[in-house]
Amino acid sequence: MSDTPQSDLRLMRRLLPVMRLDARLYGIALLCAPLSALLTVLQPWLLKQAIDQHIVPKDPAGLQQLALLYLAVVVAGFFLESGYTVSISYAGMRTIRRIRSQVYEHSLTRAQAFFDRTPTGRLLTRATSDVEALGETLTAGAITIVLDMMLVAGILFAMFRLEPKMTLTLLLVAPPLALAVEVIRRILRKLYLLVRTTLAELNAYLTERIQGLTVVQINRDEERCLAQFEARNNLYRDATIRTNIWDALLYALVDGLASMCMALMLWYGASGWFDDALTPGLLAAFLEYISRLFQPIREFSSKLAILQRAASAMEKIYGLLDNPHAIGSGPEQPSPSPQTLTFRDVSFAYGEGPDVLKRISFSVKAGEVVALVGRTGSGKTTLGKLLTRAYEGYRGSIQLDDVELRDLNTRQLRECIGIVQQDFHLFSGDVRFNLSLGRTLEDAHLEHILTLAHAQETIQSLGGLEGHITHNADNLSVGEAQLLSIARTMARDTPFIILDEATASVDTLTEARIQHATETLLSKKTVLVIAHRLSTIRHADRILVLSEGEIVESGSHEDLLTQQGTYAALFHSQFEHLNASK
Ligand code: ATP
Ligand code: MG
Repeated sequence: MSDTPQSDLRLMRRLLPVMRLDARLYGIALLCAPLSALLTVLQPWLLKQAIDQHIVPKDPAGLQQLALLYLAVVVAGFFLESGYTVSISYAGMRTIRRIRSQVYEHSLTRAQAFFDRTPTGRLLTRATSDVEALGETLTAGAITIVLDMMLVAGILFAMFRLEPKMTLTLLLVAPPLALAVEVIRRILRKLYLLVRTTLAELNAYLTERIQGLTVVQINRDEERCLAQFEARNNLYRDATIRTNIWDALLYALVDGLASMCMALMLWYGASGWFDDALTPGLLAAFLEYISRLFQPIREFSSKLAILQRAASAMEKIYGLLDNPHAIGSGPEQPSPSPQTLTFRDVSFAYGEGPDVLKRISFSVKAGEVVALVGRTGSGKTTLGKLLTRAYEGYRGSIQLDDVELRDLNTRQLRECIGIVQQDFHLFSGDVRFNLSLGRTLEDAHLEHILTLAHAQETIQSLGGLEGHITHNADNLSVGEAQLLSIARTMARDTPFIILDEATASVDTLTEARIQHATETLLSKKTVLVIAHRLSTIRHADRILVLSEGEIVESGSHEDLLTQQGTYAALFHSQFEHLNASK
């Protein structure tokens, strides 16, 4: 995540290209706003004319005409303001939708290393509440701050033209008002930030504890969790209450000042301080102007706060969008169906960490089955992750046929590699979707694969291909879900297959059956099998033994047994263990 602070202006400028896509709507809004401001300034002036020139001299005909004009101005103002509100909300919502999609699209194209560093909760916050905060700026019209200033300037100008002395007297309240607004604004800015951080904290805690709910329940940790949650909940409540109090105080202050100004006007008006120039119409117009003048001033502070919030949200969003962990990709190849796989002196480390793979060299030819064994943490899964380009930055060379992995087109690469992952995932939805993931595959083909993967019975009890799989595949046993993930990979029919602990969660009998059934399916494919249970890889053409990231032995099952090394030790320990458990 980029931590370099970006100036508010620069952030705003980055928003422009997205906003430009809805330029017409924004254009309508920008046209309506100053016109509606102009009409607002016009209304008290018309009121003055009505009182001074028609009501006081008792001229009903003229008053009627002016009333019609006043009505026209009010109606036009109504339409202009509605036009402004509708177009700005519409445009803002469209912009926000685009940015939300940008965030998701960006996440879709990141390499795995990005997700190692970015917790799900944070991504969710970026895509929802941060984007929402930005939306507030665009839709709630905080960008009208400039137009509000125009309104204030317009009203002051009109007042000055009508009666300079009165206006100048009024302006005396400006410095203390500005000071108060500024002080409260600073307090509010800090409080808004506090509200956001406490909310994020609350959300993060909630997400994690809901995901780990069973662990909490089994360990009877509910009370402590509740207390911890309450503490965060209270912090958020306190922050929100404090914000509301200061917000209300600001409103009250500005409102009170407006009323005081009006009272002052009346007092001085009554005591004749403004000479003879003060007509009833002028007084009425001034009272109107004062009430209209303070409204944007009052909202000014909250709009500034919204802008501030949006700026910090935008900083976070662009911090995410600027993240460089994109999945690299080369140009498309004409015939993307490589057969042989060669590792030459490949070393790899996660980020700044130590090397977890060290000078790995081996090759797999078409139709060969190569097995990778080794203790937990020896780097087997990492090898598969490099091959699917979930992680980049390997040293040495990995080639598919004669092309270096990093020069391959990633889409094409993934088209030709099928992987049953150790931490597989099923989506909530029906079985067909989970097998085909949106591709069109024949039902007969899917049924055939399900039979091979020995998942037919499970699927039948779910209700066939239409059967529903719940969130996190909770309505399946781990083994059953694993069978489905095998079927999913088989259904894709790719020339390369990586099976990472593909049958770790099913019983040995099912495992043996699957092996037997898939032998024909895998016979023309290049297969890399990763397994803890050595019984399953006996028939591999070659077995590579990994230890702490290095290949320490390689050969066929029989060769390795006669070598009496690591593999033999692993094998005998499992064999004895199996015998002992019989
Ligand atoms: P197992 O048999 O338990 O599946 P494995 O051989 O597949 O183990 P890997 O998952 O390849 O082991 O992990 C190899 C090493 O890399 C481990 O020491 C692990 O701590 C480290 N490692 C794995 N994933 C990451 C990651 N995302 N970031 C940093 N280190 C990692
Ligand atoms: Mg693993």
